[in-house]
Amino acid sequence: MARLLIIGCGGVASVAIAKCCQNSDVFEEICIASRTKSKCDAVADKWRPTTKTQITTAQIDAEDVPALTKLINDYKPDAVLNVALPYQDLTIMDACLNAGVHYIDTANYEPEDTDDPEWRKIYEKRCKELGFSAYFDYSWQWAYEEKFKKAGLTALLGTGFDPGVTSVFAAYAKKHYFDTIDTIDILDCNGGDHGYAFATNFNPEINLREVSAPGSYMENGKWVEVPAMSIKREYDFDKVGKKDMYLLHHEEIEALGRNMPEVKRIRFFMTFGQSYLDHMRCLEDVGMLSTTPINFEGKEIVPIQFLKALLPDPASLGPRTKGKTNIGCIFTGKKDGKEKKIYIYNVCDHEESYKEVGSQAISYTTGVPAMIGAMMVVTGKWQKPGVFTTDEFDPDPYMEALNKWGLPWVVDENPVLVD
Ligand code: NDP
Repeated sequence: MARLLIIGCGGVASVAIAKCCQNSDVFEEICIASRTKSKCDAVADKWRPTTKTQITTAQIDAEDVPALTKLINDYKPDAVLNVALPYQDLTIMDACLNAGVHYIDTANYEPEDTDDPEWRKIYEKRCKELGFSAYFDYSWQWAYEEKFKKAGLTALLGTGFDPGVTSVFAAYAKKHYFDTIDTIDILDCNGGDHGYAFATNFNPEINLREVSAPGSYMENGKWVEVPAMSIKREYDFDKVGKKDMYLLHHEEIEALGRNMPEVKRIRFFMTFGQSYLDHMRCLEDVGMLSTTPINFEGKEIVPIQFLKALLPDPASLGPRTKGKTNIGCIFTGKKDGKEKKIYIYNVCDHEESYKEVGSQAISYTTGVPAMIGAMMVVTGKWQKPGVFTTDEFDPDPYMEALNKWGLPWVVDENPVLVD
């Protein structure tokens, strides 16, 4: 029986909350705290009649560490689940340390203001030393390792689908199928159609920053960076069909590269339709993806935030989206001296997700693992002092929970490889 403080009340949070309410044997009480309290109240009102979980709500600015520390001290949760934005990761980790509770999130830290000179200095040094230029990386949160260790607290980073489930798949493959893994290809396919010419499936600012950045992969322990969208492959996805996919930088490459140094190559591919790419390129060319504030008629605006206000709210895509996602990992390596390859993946249906929790599959595939990660920590199955990603624990209870809570997976022992 546990008490969980959930921070943020957007697309991913809505699913994590719905799943905690289905799992009231574990989550006896939850508090939903976010910037806009009315959203928390609306979600609480929606699920209260369906669950034994006691739901309360609170208003919080997660960047205000003293206020958040007070909220945690008052509510006394067993853990805090951060499903706000990556911008708040560090302040929420600080508050968890102040109050002495475990921390869980779904995406690694990135700064809101990438022009901040202090941050830029460290960022540019990292670009030179490590060889990849994404704005997000684990270094900021891994730096909390000693503090969490000393406090006897667990910080579980990145328990969404990718990162999150994909890294659990890697730990599972390593534990049950391979003596050594040589390559990992993570394939994220969204075969959904929402009927708009252009919309993003989760927070547009975070999504567009990720997709417009240079691609990169890890080979023999070193980063190889390539221009955005310059490596393209076609793949025939089970239950979805043939799709174009593009190599992207993605955060689990960094964690897997560190924690499984024997793996010779780790790549990440995501599918995109031509219309999405054309719109994105055009928006980028005219400066609409910029995070640098500009002065417009006497008012300062950030172009990408203005664009976010124009685009459909990802939450509104739920009722319109048809089709399926297929996300998983292809592993090659050796077992008992013989070459081996497997593909572990989940297929999730947009319309079924919407029917169950009122959200499309992108929020569903992230919100379910967020609840499962929180469950692993509060039940003690995944608890050890320090800062960890999902590949650093026993994958079996998590894999079992995926089957139980709506994201069943399959293992294909003869997959087509990506060249
Ligand atoms: P949304 O934009 O839908 O929701 C973000 C929520 O955080 C909103 O409720 C927002 O409040 C709240 N928030 C923002 N700033 C603050 C603040 N300072 N204090 C308190 N609350 C705040 O985002 P998503 O639900 O799409 O994404 C949530 C997280 O999930 C992100 O970190 C994203 O990167 C991650 N993610 C991870 C994936 C994975 O597979 N690992 C996949 C998809 C997303 P308000 O309502 O007032 O705006």
